[in-house]
Amino acid sequence: MKLTNWAGNITFAAKQVHRPATVAELRRLVATSDQVRALGSAHSFNDIADTPGALISPAGLPDGVEIDTAAGEVKVAAGVRYADLARRLNDSGHALRNLASLPHISVAGSCATGTHGSGDGNGGLATAVARLEMVTADGDLVVLDRDADGDRFRGAVVSLGALGVVVGMTLDIVPAFDMRQYVYDDLAFDVLDDHFDEIFAAAYSVSLFTDWRAPIVNQVWVKQRVDEPHEWPAGETWLGARPADGPRHPVAGMPAVNCTRQLGVPGPWQERLPHFRSGFTPSSGEELQSEFLLPRRHAIDALHALAAVRDQIAPVLQISEIRTIAADELWLSPCHRQDTVAFHFTWIKDAHAVLPVITLVEERLAPFAPRPHWGKLFTVPPDVLRSRYERLADFQALARDLDPAGKFAGGFVRRHLLDEA
Ligand SMILES: Cc1cc2nc3c(=O)[nH]c(=O)nc-3n(C[C@H](O)[C@H](O)[C@H](O)COP(=O)(O)OP(=O)(O)OC[C@H]3O[C@@H](n4cnc5c(N)ncnc54)[C@H](O)[C@@H]3O)c2cc1C
Repeated sequence: MKLTNWAGNITFAAKQVHRPATVAELRRLVATSDQVRALGSAHSFNDIADTPGALISPAGLPDGVEIDTAAGEVKVAAGVRYADLARRLNDSGHALRNLASLPHISVAGSCATGTHGSGDGNGGLATAVARLEMVTADGDLVVLDRDADGDRFRGAVVSLGALGVVVGMTLDIVPAFDMRQYVYDDLAFDVLDDHFDEIFAAAYSVSLFTDWRAPIVNQVWVKQRVDEPHEWPAGETWLGARPADGPRHPVAGMPAVNCTRQLGVPGPWQERLPHFRSGFTPSSGEELQSEFLLPRRHAIDALHALAAVRDQIAPVLQISEIRTIAADELWLSPCHRQDTVAFHFTWIKDAHAVLPVITLVEERLAPFAPRPHWGKLFTVPPDVLRSRYERLADFQALARDLDPAGKFAGGFVRRHLLDEA
């Protein structure tokens, strides 16, 4: 049977996924393989996880969820998906600070690619990582700790799977919280010129959705903690946008039942932070995705640059999302050392039609030095990509140190990060 990613646009060269049931078995597999990569839940849209050698999924390891309330940490096996972890945490009165748009994805795979949600004060999901347990090329089990291992740790969290197979992770947790989610329809683009910061600062997590067919944000999604004050008018017109009169799905024509509860109904964090409900198809299910992250101070200029080509974007697009993310210190994080605005594109599932438009978007955004999402589609040449990561040489040195023979390099990582330009 052919092995593919979630979207079905990538057929892996690997012929088989190994699912060891113990860490000892996983270590043996790594030690005895010439080429090997870790696979998470395969939700990436490019060949980042692929290898012609062995693909190893940690999903068969016992989930090993251990909550340490006093330390404010949870330890989990790397293959655990956010939906399962979040349920367990909430049941015991705990929470993660943020989640992505869907909880279907694995914790290790998400952190390895710098996956993020939204929120001015929220870093990407990898910023919650306090400790990593990783099986390296010879089958050794290496522990990297945020406090004890400083720079090495910061290089290894967003790793693209290039350093080893992460088998265990310790994440920061906070007390569980409830949220309300509201959607507003039809915010005029020109309102953003003067109110971008105000809109994104209005709540814990804010997302703008536009299909670029008109100079309009079709939907504004606002996720508010019930225990925090807010500055925007729930249930009334806000900066000209109308409160939605029913539940919404960001993609036109898709059923709102796939989405988390809206209309201000309070509920637990893990049922409001993601847009899509676990157990339901996230997004449209038939799609390709790209995302470009750039310094937040360029948000309005970037928006205008994209609006100028909206006639080319709209025909191959299902929906775009604009989010904000706080800066972090992780070497290969697209938010490394910059408060970030992210422009996301859910394209139609037609690579031939979409790829030239991705290149056009990259050209338009080039003045703002965008960093593409590692797990989505992009066409920017490797030398340009590398120039956007100031710690790239340090990462290359770390990869040589932990994996001298390039066992974990894989095609994508070699092409984009490691080979001589
Ligand atoms: C419908 C949909 C919605 C999405 N929404 C968002 C969103 O809101 N925000 C966002 O930022 N992204 C989003 N994404 C992208 C997604 O979060 C990333 O592609 C993420 O990497 C998926 O995690 P995964 O477990 O499927 O990783 P995979 O695709 O399986 O792997 C990705 C990378 O992680 C590495 N990896 C996986 N497991 C390990 C491990 N145990 N040890 C070491 N390396 C490992 C792999 O080798 C590979 O390099 C979305 C994707 C889809 C399909």
